[in-house]
Amino acid sequence: MTTPLLEARSIAKVYDMHRGLFAKATGIRAVDDVSLRLERGDTLGIVGESGSGKSTTGRVVLGLEPASSGEVLFEGKTMAPSVSPDWRRLRMRMQMIYQDPLGALDRRLPVAAQVREPLDIHGLGTIAERDARVSELLQAVGLSAGVTQRFPHELSGGQRQRVVLARALVSKPDLLVCDEPVSALDVSIQAQVVNLLSDLQAELGLTMVFISHDLRVVRQISRRIAVMYLGRIVEEGDADDLFVRPEHPYTRALVSAAPIPGRRMADRDMLQGEPPNPAQRPSGCSFHPRCPLAIARCRTDVPSLLSLGGNRLVACHVAAGSSPARSGASASGIAPAHAVEGLSP
Ligand code: SF4
Repeated sequence: MTTPLLEARSIAKVYDMHRGLFAKATGIRAVDDVSLRLERGDTLGIVGESGSGKSTTGRVVLGLEPASSGEVLFEGKTMAPSVSPDWRRLRMRMQMIYQDPLGALDRRLPVAAQVREPLDIHGLGTIAERDARVSELLQAVGLSAGVTQRFPHELSGGQRQRVVLARALVSKPDLLVCDEPVSALDVSIQAQVVNLLSDLQAELGLTMVFISHDLRVVRQISRRIAVMYLGRIVEEGDADDLFVRPEHPYTRALVSAAPIPGRRMADRDMLQGEPPNPAQRPSGCSFHPRCPLAIARCRTDVPSLLSLGGNRLVACHVAAGSSPARSGASASGIAPAHAVEGLSP
């Protein structure tokens, strides 16, 4: 087995929350027992509602926040503590793209200087080499030479996100973590940026973690998808297979809620209720208050993430309790979510 570029082993992130000046701190588990493995050139999508822990997972695997427990490995070695010299060196090889491109850019710098800045800070290459790299990157992300001297506020949302992408790629990173990179963009621009990311990923052999609340967008770009709910991975599998044959009731609800051209709103099974407060995590399976399939055991026992055969992992007593035979019917023994009708495999 080859050494993965990135591996997270049972990581957890706990934040202390004080309810009053003299009250004892309560530990909020934003990420709980999450394990991930990313081979070089692979793309893993992480999907879930707000508060599912997906963005925190992204920050922890990059070392931007320390894990409360567990371990993150880069090229098989334990990642150095953040802001240490070793981590800073590694940081050049791992870049993050955020939802808000304007917030990620320096409003006082024109585009070319903005993209070149990481090379200037780290003294990489000669001036001529840096300029050539900037031109190459701006061309690769589809920005014309006419924008090089413009400032961020003079650009459209899509152009800004392209500048952010060029800046992230200028140091030739191995790993790119994209946290809701298209959520703030118009739907038409979203498709362009996702296609661009996909093309660059293939061309440059990038390894990518793509985080989004939108399962359709995640499916478009990812080879594998991990579904998170209240800090834990509840299902993981190959992107197309998971989308067509979701096993976990939460994944089914996400698939069902995805807008599909030609399907009426009334025909979509919308997820009922809000995710629980992480400070008052439900006992057993945390999804049980919203789950239409919950059985008595779900209120007391936390389901483990188990293999259902093939590449699928599911944390659900009902899905895991049925036959792993997966020909035709769903492995859970429950008919595949009707919401997948109309979706191409
Ligand atoms: Fe629903 Fe129970 Fe499965 Fe949780 S373990 S998703 S409550 S059936």
